[in-house]
Amino acid sequence: MIDVIVVGAGPTGLTLANELGLAGVRTVVLERTLERGGQSRALNLQPRTAEVLDLRGWLEPIAEQALTTLPRGHFAGIPLDYSVFDTRFPYQVGIPQARVERFLEDRLAAYGVPVLRGHELTGFVQDADGVTATVAGPDGTTTLRAAYLVGADGGRSRVRRELGVGFPGRDGRISMVVADIVPEPHEALPTEWRLPVFDVREGPFLMPLGDGVHRFLFGAPDQTVARDAPVTADEIRTALTTGPAPHFTLREVRWASRFTDATRQAERYAAGRVLLAGDAAHIHFPAGGQGLNLGVQDAFNLGWKLAATVHGHAPRDLLDTYHTERHPVGAAVLENTRAQVVLLHPDDDVRVLRSLVSDLLTEPAANRRIAGMISGLDIRYPMPPDTPTHPVLGTRHPVPHLHDARGLLLTPSSDLTPLLTPWSDRVDHTITPPTSGTDALLLRPDGHVCWAGTSTGDGLEAALERWFGPAS
Ligand SMILES: Cc1cc2nc3c(=O)[nH]c(=O)nc-3n(C[C@H](O)[C@H](O)[C@H](O)COP(=O)(O)OP(=O)(O)OC[C@H]3O[C@@H](n4cnc5c(N)ncnc54)[C@H](O)[C@@H]3O)c2cc1C
Repeated sequence: MIDVIVVGAGPTGLTLANELGLAGVRTVVLERTLERGGQSRALNLQPRTAEVLDLRGWLEPIAEQALTTLPRGHFAGIPLDYSVFDTRFPYQVGIPQARVERFLEDRLAAYGVPVLRGHELTGFVQDADGVTATVAGPDGTTTLRAAYLVGADGGRSRVRRELGVGFPGRDGRISMVVADIVPEPHEALPTEWRLPVFDVREGPFLMPLGDGVHRFLFGAPDQTVARDAPVTADEIRTALTTGPAPHFTLREVRWASRFTDATRQAERYAAGRVLLAGDAAHIHFPAGGQGLNLGVQDAFNLGWKLAATVHGHAPRDLLDTYHTERHPVGAAVLENTRAQVVLLHPDDDVRVLRSLVSDLLTEPAANRRIAGMISGLDIRYPMPPDTPTHPVLGTRHPVPHLHDARGLLLTPSSDLTPLLTPWSDRVDHTITPPTSGTDALLLRPDGHVCWAGTSTGDGLEAALERWFGPAS
């Protein structure tokens, strides 16, 4: 018997499968490709992603595979200072997406979660008790039955389409190429990462990925080219010699793909027993380096809620909060990437606007606002209407570890231990001095505050029930 089918072994699906495996949920990952791709694609973990990976103890082994750390973030290439935040990770971890995926896929073995490569989901039906998926694999077509199915199957999600969930937004207006290339050695080749420039008038934009391989980004000379049209070596050669020198000579193309600023978001992240996460739920221009990060954080929000639901102790409506919490976060990222696309336009009037925005972002308040958004550190989930208000409710609380993905009560004394006992199978307790201007905090498994109070424990039982289910 399977509890959850995860469709797609990208960063979102693999993160979710790890969260489910950790919680003892019987999970199967379906992946249509036979082999893991070596494409660089995303190259960064934003501070909030670093924090959530660190909560489970996964950041350190991932960071060992990193190429670099980037002390800043950026908004349309304009630097953002992350050092103003109370976080252990005020920087971006510079690591190709494929390395993050390899780590996440390899560690699934520890939970006995299989990744069925060469298995493509071709359809599904759901009923009151579960979902039956049709899967085309090496041995023909089979069916798999599970209690839930999650579509983490990328921007062209089959799951989303079969579900009939709307994907409003707009098509792309600009066409870009990303390629991992090996240029001929040249003294002007960059040896360090810099903030991205998308304007050919600045010269070719390259980033070193090690072993002579470079990430190369450029605007397609023919902006009307079809998204699926193969990228030619000639196109890359021409782009390497367009704009001001230095110009470079192409030796080898390892991988190349087109992308656009198409911007769309699923109307609903859940329909019955089927849920959507990552690019399957939202697509946007990769400005600021947020897409992978958004997907990984979707998975951290969904994993513990789905696990509690499968185990039968989830409070009513817990799974619904996945959509209510993550949809606004995705919508905000879509908006900020659209704004960045405008600022990246190579038009002289836009240059003036860009220079003004650059000036503004040197103001601490403006930097904090935009850097909080891009880093993911400003995320504050809405609390249910019946919850007493408190400034830290819904925010992230920087704790070092929640390795077992359980809740955590932080109090200055053991006074509340007896009250917590009926939930001690789901929530841990740490005696710690007050922080965040409050005596006591209750954290969810994703590190967000769901109760803030005093050592009298007013409202704590209601919060425990609200987020962790009935007392046992
Ligand atoms: C050029 C470029 C640069 C980027 N740079 C950044 C960056 O710097 N920072 C950042 O955060 N993000 C960046 N992104 C975005 C990031 O790559 C994506 O947001 C991320 O890959 C989304 O992960 P995902 O797991 O949701 O989907 P995907 O990575 O698309 O994974 C989906 C998986 O599902 C599989 N699949 C699809 N259909 C089926 C099916 N029917 N059955 C079985 N399997 C299926 C696919 O084969 C794939 O493996 C960039 C993207 C591009 C294109």
